[in-house]
Amino acid sequence: MHAIVKNSPEPGLSIKKVPIPKLGRREVLVKIERAAICGTDLHIYEWDSWAGSRIKKLPLVIGHEFSGRVVEVGDDVTKVDVGDFVSGETHIVDETCYQCRSSKMHICRNLKILGVDIDGAFAEYIKIPELNAWKNDKTLDPRIAAIQEPLGNAVHAIYPSDNVEPVAGKDVLVTGCGPIGLMSIAVLREAGANKIFATEVSEYRLRYAEKMGADIVINPLREDLVKIVLDETDSKGVDILLEMSGAESALLDGLKVVTPGGRVSLLGIFKDKISLDLNSEVIFKGIVIHGITGRRMFQTWYQVKGLLNIPRFRDKIKMLITHELNMKDIERGMKLLKSKEAVKIVLNPIF
Ligand code: NAD
Ligand code: ZN
Repeated sequence: MHAIVKNSPEPGLSIKKVPIPKLGRREVLVKIERAAICGTDLHIYEWDSWAGSRIKKLPLVIGHEFSGRVVEVGDDVTKVDVGDFVSGETHIVDETCYQCRSSKMHICRNLKILGVDIDGAFAEYIKIPELNAWKNDKTLDPRIAAIQEPLGNAVHAIYPSDNVEPVAGKDVLVTGCGPIGLMSIAVLREAGANKIFATEVSEYRLRYAEKMGADIVINPLREDLVKIVLDETDSKGVDILLEMSGAESALLDGLKVVTPGGRVSLLGIFKDKISLDLNSEVIFKGIVIHGITGRRMFQTWYQVKGLLNIPRFRDKIKMLITHELNMKDIERGMKLLKSKEAVKIVLNPIF
């Protein structure tokens, strides 16, 4: 089969012919219908310092956001059938460690990630454990089905546990309107948030923040985020901060406007260690901080499925698919994503 492969530890990607994956007893083979490019794929393409230290397996078929049809199942597979239309949970877990056995599979101690640690989805076929195959409604648009994984990141950040206070009526700040920040805005609107503030440095993406339903969009390069949020909330600040940029200044300014007793979800990944005044910004304000990785398995997927049943929500998510390309044009896709003049780029498995 054809696949998009990271061959060697240097920038770039190649299109190669590789064998169709051989199934283990509890694995299923999925024929890719659509895949989508994530920021992680861009890091691997560019071979930046994160990719250099994180990726151990080369050559590697990259990509992890996808939808497709099950074409073969391993001998011990019982819940998935040939013909099922599935998407993939990208965290491959051991099911036996302390975390897996305590309802925290997404932070399995032996976690492997599709397209990072093991061969991924930018190919004609992918193999995944039966556990990771998420069955979609047959009528779901395969392009939307392919971007449920980042949508799940957004839902997880908003609902990090079963015990968080409701979003309805709350003021929320989303820092960073990449695909996941934008998806978060759509979820927050559907969940009944009061004022949604969104910050972003790309004007193109700020326009999408408005389309997703943000009330107040802020470009921190030319506006004073702290002043605007405090003015608009009668100095109260926001109840919830979703940090989705990985920019130090966004977190530091965001924390300044979280109201005492509020909560923060950290999803954006920072390039370096950052320094902050824990005493004044967190401890004495009684703020709760949640680290967010992946999706809760599988509570988040059920929430995503429910949200996508709402036609107006589904239409909003579809608006975020700004480009559709063939896999053979991956180079163009990477350049588009880097320019930030794109949100979700969906790929057809055409080589
Ligand atoms: P992204 O990198 O495209 O989004 C980040 C956005 O933040 C960009 O649009 C960028 O222009 C914007 N930004 C940069 N500096 C800013 C600033 N000072 N203020 C406001 N916005 C600023 O990618 P994404 O796919 O939406 O992911 C969001 C973040 O989450 C990234 O850091 C990504 O690495 C991380 N991520 C984390 C997980 C996880 O499981 N924790 C999963 C996927 C992605
Ligand atoms: Zn585990």
